[in-house]
Amino acid sequence: MNIRPEKHPQTALMPFRPIYLDCHATTPVDPRVADLMVQVMTTNFGNPNNRGHFFGDEAADIVHAARIEVGQLVNGSSENVVFLRSATVAASGVIASAVQSNVSSSPLRVASTTVEHRAVLDALSKREAAGEIRMNWLPVDTRAQLSIEAVRSVLDNGCDLLCVMAANNEVGTVYPIAEIASLARDADVSLLVDATQAAGHIPINMDTWGITYLLMSAHKMYGPKGIAALVSGQGANADFRDLERAEGTPNVPGIAGFGEACRLCREEMLQTSQRISGLRDRLERLLGERIDGLVVNGDRVARLGHNLHVSIPGTPNEAVVARLSQSVALSTGSACQWGTDQPSHVLQAMGLSDELQESAIRIGLGKTTSQLDVDRAAELIAAAVEDVRRIMLSRGIR
Ligand code: PLP
Repeated sequence: MNIRPEKHPQTALMPFRPIYLDCHATTPVDPRVADLMVQVMTTNFGNPNNRGHFFGDEAADIVHAARIEVGQLVNGSSENVVFLRSATVAASGVIASAVQSNVSSSPLRVASTTVEHRAVLDALSKREAAGEIRMNWLPVDTRAQLSIEAVRSVLDNGCDLLCVMAANNEVGTVYPIAEIASLARDADVSLLVDATQAAGHIPINMDTWGITYLLMSAHKMYGPKGIAALVSGQGANADFRDLERAEGTPNVPGIAGFGEACRLCREEMLQTSQRISGLRDRLERLLGERIDGLVVNGDRVARLGHNLHVSIPGTPNEAVVARLSQSVALSTGSACQWGTDQPSHVLQAMGLSDELQESAIRIGLGKTTSQLDVDRAAELIAAAVEDVRRIMLSRGIR
């Protein structure tokens, strides 16, 4: 699609834009981040690998400053921040390095929750299929929550690497990483935390908690796409700088934007997340009032403030989302599952009935969401649900 204004006058004038409620898929870039990126692209455009003149040195300084910002957001050391193009690449890098450093003659013993993102699950499945690792799966309950006892038990039974996400990208359940990290540290087990949905939204404290490897991605926290970080903490026994070098010339505008996004999150996270979770609660209430039988999924207590995941029994989610495609952007599942026609592995792991799975809708609010958006979205979603239900009734489908 060509988005140049002369081709799309309607986009240029922006008389109407649908309401965006899919912030788990991606977030809009904060204009302050975008401004900085434009400046880096047009003025500070040097190549940090070509130092020895002003422009190369300046670009290297920009990358260095961004490492500090990324490290500060999660209380990790800037020296251990490595920039990669995505959290997906970072996940597979950590798992590959754990396999390579396995000196035992038996496969690496890895434990992971069943609700990790595909980025982690796919990397694990590949290694498992190759006989390089042996998996021990940690089940979740109906809220997608983990039992600490189960974590303790996998650690006691022998484990080399534990993978637990900080927050779930579908239902928003937040995991007790501080507690899990403390258990892993006591058992001398490396802990990989995929914080892609959590970083910038909830506090994360790598050093105090003792996380070994942490993943984050700029586009989930009002930064640009195509840039992510792998942060190593205490006990990390791999150097990922080679992985960063292998990406070639650093994406300096992306890295600068990521650093700025981290700085803004650090300064504004508390206030922003309070405002957004208030709006989320309002939307949850409005939808509950308007839609008969609405079920809220996930952990109602330990949940990301910008997540609302619902099921609307008897109403196929695809029909609802399609009806709203030009007015409210919602999702039936995670971005990577969209279009694959596969049921969500997260909802399956939670043991939700087929009816609840097939009618599940993920809503992700963001810092550009207004109360007006929420009120209007509630009306539009309720109307779409009513429409779908009416059509189904008229066709004798229930
Ligand atoms: N992990 C989680 C929890 C995610 O939500 C996502 C993206 O949706 C990823 C990893 C992959 O991130 P990236 O887009 O940087 O590859």
